[in-house]
Amino acid sequence: MNSWNIVTQIRRRISEEEGVVRKQAALRIALCHPSPYSAAMSSLGYQAIYREIHHHPGASAERAFLPEDSREYRKNRVPILTYESETPLAEFPVVAFSIAYELELTGMLEMLDLSGIPLLRQNRTGRHPLILAGGPLTQSNAEILAPFVDLIILGEGEDLIHDFLHAAASTRRDELLSVFSRTPGCYVPGMTADFPEPARVPDGRLPAISQILTKNMVLSSMFLVEAERGCSRSCAFCVMRCAASGGMRLVPTEKVFGLIPEGARRVGLVGAAVTDHPRIEELVRKIVESGREIGLSSLRADRLNKELVQLLAQGGYKTLTTASDGASQRLRDLVDRRITERHLINAAKLVRDTGLQRLKLYMMIGLPGETMEDIDELIRFSIDLSGIAPLVLSISPFVAKRNTPMNGEPFEAIPLLNLKLSAIRDGLKGKVEIKPASTRWAWVEYKLAQGGESAGLAAMDAWKSGGNFSSWKHAFAQREA
Ligand code: SF4
Repeated sequence: MNSWNIVTQIRRRISEEEGVVRKQAALRIALCHPSPYSAAMSSLGYQAIYREIHHHPGASAERAFLPEDSREYRKNRVPILTYESETPLAEFPVVAFSIAYELELTGMLEMLDLSGIPLLRQNRTGRHPLILAGGPLTQSNAEILAPFVDLIILGEGEDLIHDFLHAAASTRRDELLSVFSRTPGCYVPGMTADFPEPARVPDGRLPAISQILTKNMVLSSMFLVEAERGCSRSCAFCVMRCAASGGMRLVPTEKVFGLIPEGARRVGLVGAAVTDHPRIEELVRKIVESGREIGLSSLRADRLNKELVQLLAQGGYKTLTTASDGASQRLRDLVDRRITERHLINAAKLVRDTGLQRLKLYMMIGLPGETMEDIDELIRFSIDLSGIAPLVLSISPFVAKRNTPMNGEPFEAIPLLNLKLSAIRDGLKGKVEIKPASTRWAWVEYKLAQGGESAGLAAMDAWKSGGNFSSWKHAFAQREA
């Protein structure tokens, strides 16, 4: 792909979007997502901040994404360009990143480097853009971002972004950083002593909704709207658990339904535990009966019933996806998952009885104290389930996150995880489809999830050395030495 093709791809994508905002403003923000376009545009948080910036008088947002093939950009010496005006990132006064999870850190580094912006905060001057970061990662571990960014907004940024835009339009950078170093919900590396609690917006600011629809999103042309925010449950491994998220905040069904544009043919209801919404059936029914397809961001097995699953099937579902998370009942109880075999059997029966194609279960292995007996139970129970409905297991290693009761728990040794995966594969061969996540990349995620600034610097070293697994191992070892 040469430089002309890069620009042509941007223009083609823009021409296939509905809802893009074109606004002339004195303060232009480059709003970056460190993942490729199709995944980034399916992020409701990213879209919501795009809307917020455009709502601010005198400010506009222009989007930029991690290229699918950075080598082509490098080879052709093309900097990262914003989609709205094809302007290089380095020409903006502010470059903002929305970061979902740990492994996106290298996407941010790649975008800065391709733009000719020094990666390390200490190597930038006033002629470089101010680098701002926010997004879901800030709910758990923003510390790894500290060497690279000037300001972090933690948690829900819908109000703080307006404070920031107001200050950025009228205040010198050093004064701005000084003010935000003392602002609740904000962290200025080198100035704020401790990480503050993540910000939370008043209920009246909900829900977040999509701004731009395109067939080129992972969730093709799906209008996203929050039905709730946060969670009232207490799964011990989860950063969205009640104690961290402040509990579930509901959006009234009338409000959700009223926000769906007439022309939206596909609607996604978003929330950490959206099936816990007490009127979820009514909401799904209204959407499906209006002739639209439906998507739910999360399905808890203990909330599934015949009416809901029939509606999902009517709304285009082929696969019912839910989480089990522990290999055995003992482990599910240990992490307070509150999902039992009875719930999962019920889910499989609902798949069978409503004519869906398969049940997909998210599963974690490597929880503290897990033994081969737990893995045997997983194999035995999966065979039982697959006798009811076709089953897919999506298996990931457990990664302990900060801001949860399981913070600090170890990552199971990679050879042992691989041994368990082999046992599961052998035990379920021909009966259950297995989709395992990489144990190596889960280890990298763990090191970043548990690490501080030096882990962030290790990510930079690994990225500079090519980003393969051995460069990550070497980089962490060097930084920890
Ligand atoms: S795993 Fe799901 S149900 Fe459990 S606390 Fe997290 S969001 Fe809530």
